[in-house]
Amino acid sequence: MQIAEGITLIEGVGANSNCYLVECAGGINVLVDTGTADNFLRIKEHVKKLDVIVNTHCHYDHTGGNLLVKNEFGAKLLAHEEDAPYISSGDGEHTCSSMFGKVLTGVKVDIVLKDRDVILGTTGLEVVHTPGHTVGGICLYDRKRKILFSGDTLFANGGVGRTDLPGGDYEALLASLRKISLLDVDVILPGHGECVLSGGSEYIQDVLNSIG
Ligand SMILES: [Zn+2]
Ligand SMILES: [Zn+2]
Repeated sequence: MQIAEGITLIEGVGANSNCYLVECAGGINVLVDTGTADNFLRIKEHVKKLDVIVNTHCHYDHTGGNLLVKNEFGAKLLAHEEDAPYISSGDGEHTCSSMFGKVLTGVKVDIVLKDRDVILGTTGLEVVHTPGHTVGGICLYDRKRKILFSGDTLFANGGVGRTDLPGGDYEALLASLRKISLLDVDVILPGHGECVLSGGSEYIQDVLNSIG
């Protein structure tokens, strides 16, 4: 489903996260998260060419499809430096794959991300490090289109990421929410559930006011 110009939402069914196919400058196609391994056929329905996979964080419901998707399209895998080791090693505890009753096959992260990096330098997708749900969680910010891919940091139903899993930290999550509240955001595309299609900045402020 086309959710904004050049952005396709592959809705998260069951245990799968939402995935987003983003057409970027220079014809580079970026997939934000891959869902679980069970999500692969749905990804293949929507994706014909792929250059880059970005994981918003290490959890299995966002990374379980990495291996299949990477092999199918020959895409590079990118994740924040603090979650990348768990993705590369398939750490059952930090990725929560054990909690899902699955084994995550480790997939090497090709490019390790830091706060304020731009994906591949040219795509216009900026990395915003937002720890709290996991230590290396990120949002991706398209400044031009005022779109924020919020991963499991913030949802459209007023909810925020849980902080009771390994690496979770409520104070860090609050700081991350304050950080994204400073961005000029119109559309918010979360890792689960509905999207916020307008007034994103006001929405983030409302959520902060309600919990902070
Ligand atoms: Zn999730
Ligand atoms: Zn998560």
